[in-house]
This record gives sequence, C-alpha cells and structure tokens, in this order.
Amino acid sequence: MSARSRGAAAVTIVGAGPVGTLLALLLAADGRRVRVLERRADPRSAPAERGRSINLALAARGLAALARAGVLERVQPELVAMRGRQLHDRDGRGPLLPYGLRQEEQIHAVDRARLNTALIEAAARVALIELEFDRRAIDVEPDSGRVSWVDGAGAQHADDPAALVIGADGAGSALRQALQQRGTLRATEEPLAHDYKELHVPATPTGDWPLAPHALHIWPRGEFMLIALPNPDRSFTATLFLPARGRDSFETLIDRAAVRAFFAREFPDALALIPDFDAQFAAHPQGKLGTLYCWPWHARRVLLVGDAAHAIVPFHGQGLNCGFEDCVLLADLLAGGRDEPSACVQFERQRRPDTDAIAAMAIENYREMRATVLAPDFAARKQLALDLEQRFPGRFIPRYSMVMFHAEIPYAEAQRRGARQDGVLDALLAAGAGADSALATKLLADAAL
Ligand SMILES: Cc1cc2nc3c(=O)[nH]c(=O)nc-3n(C[C@H](O)[C@H](O)[C@H](O)COP(=O)(O)OP(=O)(O)OC[C@H]3O[C@@H](n4cnc5c(N)ncnc54)[C@H](O)[C@@H]3O)c2cc1C
Repeated sequence: MSARSRGAAAVTIVGAGPVGTLLALLLAADGRRVRVLERRADPRSAPAERGRSINLALAARGLAALARAGVLERVQPELVAMRGRQLHDRDGRGPLLPYGLRQEEQIHAVDRARLNTALIEAAARVALIELEFDRRAIDVEPDSGRVSWVDGAGAQHADDPAALVIGADGAGSALRQALQQRGTLRATEEPLAHDYKELHVPATPTGDWPLAPHALHIWPRGEFMLIALPNPDRSFTATLFLPARGRDSFETLIDRAAVRAFFAREFPDALALIPDFDAQFAAHPQGKLGTLYCWPWHARRVLLVGDAAHAIVPFHGQGLNCGFEDCVLLADLLAGGRDEPSACVQFERQRRPDTDAIAAMAIENYREMRATVLAPDFAARKQLALDLEQRFPGRFIPRYSMVMFHAEIPYAEAQRRGARQDGVLDALLAAGAGADSALATKLLADAAL
C-alpha cells in the first residue's frame, strides 16, 4: 500500500453522488477545502448507467438545498413540474388528484444522472473542491481520518489523515461497513418484500407526450403498482413495484408470455405505449428496496450522511430530498470553522428524529399509493383535507403537503401533526361534517391545531 503525500484535506467526502457533491459545494462556500473520492468514472466523460432509477422527484426540501448551494438556476431547465397524481384504472381512466391548493404546490421530475452531472460541473469550478474519480474507498480509520482506496488499475492507496471524513457513498456504503467491522456502529436493513423494475416510455412517433404531462401517473392495483414520471424530452420513466414472491410477483413473471399477459391485464394503456416492451423487461435489472437503520452515524472523525446513514423506500419521493436537507444542516453546524466532532454529535442529535419519521412515512405512503387511493372514500378524504387547509390556513396542512411543500416543517413535526389531523379527518368523515362545520372548529381546537 503506498502512502499519498499531499496536504491533509480539511474534509474528505467519499461519494460524488448528489449528496456528496452538494455537501462539497456548501462546505467550500464556507471556506473549507474539500476532497471528493468517487468510485465511478467521471460522468462528464462517461456514458450514464441505464436501466436503473433514471429519474426522481424533487420537492421543496431538495429545491431549497439546491438554491442554498447556488445551483438551482442551473438545474431548473432539467425539471418537469408534476401538479398531481393521475390515476389509471384497468381501462386507462381515472381522476387527476391535485397535490395541493396552490400553483406552486407541485413536485418536479429530474433525470438523476443529469442532476448529478450538473452538481459535479458546478463543483469542478470551485477551487477549494478537488474531485477524484475511479477511487473506490475500502476503509477508514476513525481516529486518524485516513481513508484507504483502490484506483482504477486495482492498486491500493492510503490518504493522509483528514480532519473530517464524510461517507456519502450511498445505501451500500463501504465506510459504514468499515465502521461496522471496527465495532463502532450497528446497522440493520429491513428489506421490502417488493422489488422494482424501470421501463422507458418513449415520446410518441410525432414527438408528443405519450401520457398527460405534468402529472405523476399511478396505476394502483392493491398489492402492486406501476408509476411513471415525465422527462424533459417528453418521454416517461415507468417503474413497476411488485412483490418479489407470491401469486402476482416477479417470481411468477418467468417468461415473455407471462409478463406480457400480466401487463395486458393490469396496465393495458401503459403496455401500448412501449414498443420494445419485451426487450426492456428482459434486459432491465430487478432492483431491491429497503430501509436502513444505522446508529450512531458518527465515529471520531467520520460521519455518514444521505443514503449511507438512512436509506429509505422511495414511496414518498424523499430519499434525496432528505439527503440534501442533511447537507444544509451539516453545513450550518460546521459554519464558521466550528469544531467537527461537536458538529457531528449535534447533527445526529438533531437529525435522527426527522430521518426516522420520513422512513416511517415513506413505508406508509407505499400502501397509500398502491391501495388506499382505490378506497371509495380516498378522494373525499383528500378533498376534506384540502378544504380544511383552505378554511384554517397554517393550522391544518395535509401531511403530504407538509412533507413535500413545507421545508420549514421538520419531518418529525409533520408526522406528529399528521397523526392529530388524521383524528380530525376520521371524526369529521364519521359525522358527515364538512370543513365549515362547528365540529371542525372544535376538533381542531381540541387537537391543538
Ligand atoms: C427506485 C427509486 C426511486 C427513487 N425516487 C426518489 C424520488 O423520487 N425522490 C427522492 O428524493 N429520492 C428518490 N430515491 C432515493 C434517492 O435515489 C437516494 O436517496 C439518493 O440517490 C441518495 O443520494 P446519495 O448521494 O446519498 O447516494 P447515491 O445516490 O447512492 O450516491 C452515492 C455515490 O457514492 C459512490 N460510491 C459508492 N461506493 C463508493 C466507494 N466505496 N468509494 C467511492 N465512492 C463510492 C457512488 O458511485 C455514488 O456516486 C429513489 C430511490 C430509488 C431506488
């Protein structure tokens, strides 16, 4: 193993994914020197990976963090607004359920690779940031802050110590595993029994949108679902979420005929939009999902952030939004040269209730997306929630809206308020009373809303 001789970087970040890169920008803006080690090749010169999580949704928390790092304007042209959920029944029909009351209450689809590349391009222009690709971290010493890594040719290297090493290396974090092996942290992964597969829905032959743009499309089917998010080139990225085993499952979709019959029965309108469906389904990988619980996130000079610390299931569209929010909090806590260990302790203390809350809400949202939306009272309940918000602005805000559009409300607070609001909705629906009833006023006061 060869030792590298370079001046000790103030901060080493492992992982130039969206979280690692955004954090580098925020720390450099505060005058810190940052070195970023990334396992993959430089995406500015390498083709993007295909067939896996191609686009994702950004909401208020993610946008606020991008704005804070000064990169929102650069990313803005890449965003496609989605104003509500467009449901599809087996005949391809269904309502559009708006996300919120106001025009600005919308979420934004963005191509994951393009977002990451835009952040890397921004970071490459900052003198205090040193980006290094083809560097796969394999170990970290918590006491010294020394990272070991393997280069593209397979040779091992050990860095000089860094004052702070941040693991932003995603759900399969090598740094987390290194700390686990050293006994400084424990981690458990709760796998979801459902896997996913992505499919590309191209623009029509005339270059038009294949589905109504500006909506997140959902084909809810109870135990499973298909969703689709728009791309700027008028294509959509569809994702099938399906049990790994059981009657309707990835296990039973064993050949081309079975897959086609399943789609023709459950999602005929979507199937008609994908000319090379059979080839895509056979070629695209089947992804795994789960929730990662890990504690503590911090050991001496090492801290985990983003998916490395708290990967969640994607059903609230918040994993990256949450990781970006981590970056803002950590940058605030480290601001002005504050000492790293105490900032890390404070980061974990402050952030964990929120990451636990969004992990739980993300799992709950899977049931809502694939099943609850089918319940006869779902639309009535959503409408009542919006009516209450209109009548009692600031006092009643639907939980989905708090999570997606109110970055100023921490996730844990959204979860607590959401539970109290659910009680109000249950009671009003049971009584057949509306938002303008005396009962609504009383229930809100009783729930301290
Ligand atoms: C199907 C699906 C849909 C999703 N949809 C949404 C959504 O709509 N909205 C949302 O907010 N979130 C969504 N997410 C979650 C989101 O993708 C993650 O939360 C986000 O990518 C986490 O960012 P990160 O930078 O922490 O990790 P990653 O994006 O995983 O980046 C980690 C980086 O570290 C690098 N790396 C890994 N190991 C090493 C190593 N040993 N050495 C050096 N570098 C290394 C990787 O190459 C990568 O560049 C979705 C996730 C999935 C699976």
